[in-house]
Amino acid sequence: MALLAELCDRMVDGSVEVIDLTAPLSERTPIIRLPPTHGQPCPFERCVISRYDHAGENVYWNNISLSEHTGTHFDAPIHWLSGRHLDDVSQVPARRLIGPAVVLDYSAEAAADPDFLLRREHVEAWQAQHGHFPENAWLLYRTGWDARRDDAEQFLNGGHTPGVAPECARWLAQETSVIGLGVETVGTDAGQAMNFDPAFPCHCYMQGANKYGLTQLQNLHRLPPRGAVLFAGPLPIVGGSGSPTRVLALVERSEVSR
Ligand code: MN
Repeated sequence: MALLAELCDRMVDGSVEVIDLTAPLSERTPIIRLPPTHGQPCPFERCVISRYDHAGENVYWNNISLSEHTGTHFDAPIHWLSGRHLDDVSQVPARRLIGPAVVLDYSAEAAADPDFLLRREHVEAWQAQHGHFPENAWLLYRTGWDARRDDAEQFLNGGHTPGVAPECARWLAQETSVIGLGVETVGTDAGQAMNFDPAFPCHCYMQGANKYGLTQLQNLHRLPPRGAVLFAGPLPIVGGSGSPTRVLALVERSEVSR
């Protein structure tokens, strides 16, 4: 059978499952808090245009406002100084928005130490067990942080949230074919990453290598260590540094009878 026809059939029979990795977007969605000397992103807000009323008898719709980096969102290369001459979010090629995903689970380590940092040896240990990453893979970094998503204080945890060590970020960006880093936390970098050298190493190295970030993912525990296919759908905001994004994964359920 033709590949795409088989895929569609298997989505109907449930042997290929669609997993939503996107956090629901609302006024309660946590946003990053930067030092007071910095500009701050806006939380999600909405204002009713009409709701089957005098402003529109048959129609319900809202105006919304939010930052490019509110909720589950995509970091484009231009988001960081190191990538300032690279793609904005509208210029990211569509073929790079679909690709294989690997899931590295450090939720136990992050539960024991909220400042846990992923290091190169962690990634190499994963590869020794599961094999090398497929070409142009998304590295999805599970920390268990999505369990905190309904409580902004717990989610932001006073700036103590897990991330990636600078040398590991440099290695992933410059010496592997990983296309992007997806995390469950409010940003791709650790909560304390403003104090690292370089500051915010995931942003510095990944965006500087024309690579991407995805944040505030959930349901990573429903993905296998390898084999999922990730779809990220940022809005093509012209000149934009990123965008709120719907992120979906296709997962094969071999145990489902067909
Ligand atoms: Mn961002």
